[in-house]
Amino acid sequence: MEKDELWQNVLADVELNTSRATFNTWFGGTNIQSIEDNILLISVPNSFAKEWLENKFNKFILKSIRNFLPEIKDIKFIISQIKNADLKIVRKKKPEEREELDADSQFDFTGVDQNTNLNPKYTLNDFIVGSANELAHAAVTSVISNLGTVYNPLFIYGGVGLGKTHLIQALGNEVARLNKNKIVKYVSSEKFTSELVAAIQVKEMGKFKEEYRKCDLLIIDDIQFIAGREKTQEEFFHTFNALYERNKQIVISSDKPPKAISTLEDRLKSRFEGGMIADISYPDYETRLAIIKTKLVKKKVNLSNEIIEYVAQNFQKNIREMEGALNKIIIQTKINQNIITFDDVKKILQSSIHIPKKNISVKNIIQTVAQYYSINEKQLFLKTRKQEIVKPRQIIMYLLRDELGLSYPSIGGKIGGRDHTTIIHACEKISDKVKNNVSLADEINTIRQIIYNS
Ligand code: ADP
Ligand code: MG
Repeated sequence: MEKDELWQNVLADVELNTSRATFNTWFGGTNIQSIEDNILLISVPNSFAKEWLENKFNKFILKSIRNFLPEIKDIKFIISQIKNADLKIVRKKKPEEREELDADSQFDFTGVDQNTNLNPKYTLNDFIVGSANELAHAAVTSVISNLGTVYNPLFIYGGVGLGKTHLIQALGNEVARLNKNKIVKYVSSEKFTSELVAAIQVKEMGKFKEEYRKCDLLIIDDIQFIAGREKTQEEFFHTFNALYERNKQIVISSDKPPKAISTLEDRLKSRFEGGMIADISYPDYETRLAIIKTKLVKKKVNLSNEIIEYVAQNFQKNIREMEGALNKIIIQTKINQNIITFDDVKKILQSSIHIPKKNISVKNIIQTVAQYYSINEKQLFLKTRKQEIVKPRQIIMYLLRDELGLSYPSIGGKIGGRDHTTIIHACEKISDKVKNNVSLADEINTIRQIIYNS
């Protein structure tokens, strides 16, 4: 039998056994790519179809195909070129980013709960709390025990690989565990978009709306990707309102604060700003050590302190990268029957370690700014609103954030015990100002040069 004919037979089988909507949504654009070594390769139009078919239809397709070719052992799905409609919903990724995503465990769909779409491997227990994420973590715990009533929405933002997905999925898992009757749903904003597109295509908007509006807790990951997509934002806005009005909890993550998402509609920005906004910044050294150690215990692997410290020192800005490095070491350890030297580790990680920036310290920044504006360091910490003090103080906060990636609460602590909201305000003010004020931008650049060269 011809490949195409074979697939038509399988599709006929599927069509008989599923709803029209399911069939159209997930089997449209699928084909048999090839059959090699008794493995059937099926090409699918996008990653959403791939995920869905793998999870829900693997067995069914296998059974059906064996009616024609009993020798088939397994099936695999591969994503074929992207066509028309899908172009809009699949983000273009740079090759290096693609690699990072592929290696990323959040794309490991094994064990993902069919109802909630949550991966049970993300737990609060495994989430190490440090100064960089304590605010976000505290907000999450509070939301768990006061669903829909304290912080709604909860908006968590931070850079790549800093634990946003982990934290919000852990929140979902915990709520689902504690309240068996509550409807929890986790979705990436890309998946939200693709489901919306599919619903429009098959004219099942009612079902789509119902699916989202019945949630007691809706978690949307990486909301920045809906920016610029009008229809998706429109639909999300209505979903948001419907849930919010009924005191249902909404949790959102993003790589930047609402204000900074440039093509996000103002009405959505103001909705997001109406709740609690918490950031996650770079983990400090102790947190990184703790994450490594926890992971080693889990994997039952021993490494010398020298090696552990080396990894913690060299991966400061992305926990996912740090875990990737650790995995490389762990694999090598297993290959070498548990023997690995510090030199081996250096070699293994050679290509993944960035050239470290010059060691800049908090003290360094404070001193330089104080000297530049000719004020006494002690004056900086006084509770005064004198402009000649306020400005350098705000620049220090801004630089501590920008150069060292410190969290807002920890900057507050370093600047004479100020509240994190003061710090957020200062950092935003300076970062807004440098865009329009050339002389301020110059001053700050000069200060940076002095810091780098000191
Ligand atoms: P993001 O969504 O911010 O890009 P992830 O949540 O995917 O980041 O985190 C990347 C990896 O780092 C995951 O494997 C996650 O489990 C791990 N990780 C991040 N933060 C922590 C933490 N505080 N404690 C333990 N593991 C963490
Ligand atoms: Mg994420």
